[in-house]
Amino acid sequence: MTQFGTWQPATRGKVLYSWPRGACEEELRFTDPEQLGSEPYDVAIVGAGVVGCGLAYWLSQYELRVLLVDRLHDVGEGTSKANSAIIHTGYDAKPGTLESKLLRKAAADWPDLAARLKIPLNPIGGIMMAVTDEQERQLEAAKKNAHTNRVTDVRILSADEIREREPNASSDVRGGLLVPGESLGDPFMASIAYAEVALVNGVDILLGTGIAGVELGQAPGAPLHHLVTDDGHRLPARRIVNAAGLGSRRLADDYNGGAFDINPRRGQFVLFDKCARSLVRHMLLPVPSTHTKGVLVSPTIFGNLLAGPTAEDLPLDDPAATHTTVEGIRRVMEGGSRLVSGLARQPVIATYAGARCACSQGSYVIRYNDGTPGVVTLTGVRSTGLSASISLARHLIVGMQKELGLELSPDTAALDARPESAWPGWWRRPFENDATGARADHGRAVCFCEVISEGEICDALDSPLKPRTMDALKRRTRSMMGRCQGFDCQVPLAEIVSSHTGITISQLTKNGPGSELVAPGQAAVTA
Ligand SMILES: Cc1cc2nc3c(=O)[nH]c(=O)nc-3n(C[C@H](O)[C@H](O)[C@H](O)COP(=O)(O)OP(=O)(O)OC[C@H]3O[C@@H](n4cnc5c(N)ncnc54)[C@H](O)[C@@H]3O)c2cc1C
Repeated sequence: MTQFGTWQPATRGKVLYSWPRGACEEELRFTDPEQLGSEPYDVAIVGAGVVGCGLAYWLSQYELRVLLVDRLHDVGEGTSKANSAIIHTGYDAKPGTLESKLLRKAAADWPDLAARLKIPLNPIGGIMMAVTDEQERQLEAAKKNAHTNRVTDVRILSADEIREREPNASSDVRGGLLVPGESLGDPFMASIAYAEVALVNGVDILLGTGIAGVELGQAPGAPLHHLVTDDGHRLPARRIVNAAGLGSRRLADDYNGGAFDINPRRGQFVLFDKCARSLVRHMLLPVPSTHTKGVLVSPTIFGNLLAGPTAEDLPLDDPAATHTTVEGIRRVMEGGSRLVSGLARQPVIATYAGARCACSQGSYVIRYNDGTPGVVTLTGVRSTGLSASISLARHLIVGMQKELGLELSPDTAALDARPESAWPGWWRRPFENDATGARADHGRAVCFCEVISEGEICDALDSPLKPRTMDALKRRTRSMMGRCQGFDCQVPLAEIVSSHTGITISQLTKNGPGSELVAPGQAAVTA
């Protein structure tokens, strides 16, 4: 019988953190490029969001030396951690664009991908709801758009048909468009699963490692470039992919990349307690405007209810890009209440905001040999990057083969799947996760809201990517993500992490150095 959460394969790649001594085990610290060997990388990817991780996963299927590097302290910790988590069919994409093409391909791939990589996916379908006469008139055009994008199973619903399916739909509903193929995804597990398999296949992953600049090689043909880290380390690579999302402009300046402008488009969300889940049965989507898809109301794959996002353009580098505001939350509640009656009475457990990488040159801007041979710029992956991540990775690899001379020789030993034992298992009770009863710690609940056991925390700590922050642990196990949001369980969890890894409580962080759980000079609080 499978013992859940016990996937501890021999990894061919290394995961290392550029952290101070004591912040993680010494063997996980990045102090010297020699730890990665002296051979240049065939491809170095800057940005371990879902896009960079998807690319690393796909590249790891070939005999290539690949590096994935991010300044944050876990994979998928930038824009990729804070979105609506819909796996789109592309029914509403602008026909003829690369985005519509990638979404169509990805939608076909997702069921198999999710099954192989053990990424939760739930095809509950969406209903685009018209709540004004003007919006109702737009439904035919939306249906036509879907058909042009070859999403042909959409259907116009009358107000009565919607009420039958959605008893809590707003009384203003005039009609809608049923989109059966829209699915709920897991915003966190996609990046983690891609990166875990890539790591096992030999991709090196450097976290907490900002890239401060690029030293360009001068040799003609295939010059050898170097990524220069914030600590001044030089990492040699023949090809560099700038998948740095909102950091892509700054990085592109360093290699004379072509002109593009980006800005964060903030999206604020309200997350409701699990008792609100039964309010809706589908994802309820507004009729979009030219600027935004609008505020939706949707179950989450974890059994909560979500409303959002807003769409607020902020200047690049605005520190408030992922802050929530009173005005933003008010707009989410107003927008959601236009679709669903009774939303405002539901208990809220959290609010959060994510920042889309809006690019004035359009979505999915890809430039090969951008200003410099061997450098690829990828930017403007704004609103659909989770969905498109897998088809985008393939598209990029084909482009790199053609434009950068990347040789693709399949690695016959590479994995393209995670086994059942990697399945995190948070949707089962702990005793189901270890049905053999072999481990007592699987029976010791530590997060009571989400019913997560001590054993599952230890399994996550031992998993291939070796998460070492409380947030990284939270995204893998759902501990601290329930009604109490960590109020009750964070201290006992910190004690488990500390005793399992040897990191002292005073050096444990929420999301990397600088976010220590205990203020300097304060004694750790123990339960
Ligand atoms: C509000 C909102 C709702 C959304 N809803 C959906 C949805 O329902 N479905 C969907 O498919 N998509 C959705 N998206 C879009 C999706 O989240 C993004 O397209 C996707 O996460 C982009 O991934 P990325 O890897 O390009 O960017 P990121 O996740 O931001 O990754 C870029 C990484 O680069 C790193 N980086 C930057 N500069 C440097 C540097 N100099 N050195 C080292 N590292 C660096 C950053 O730390 C970051 O981790 C939504 C987005 C938002 C904000």
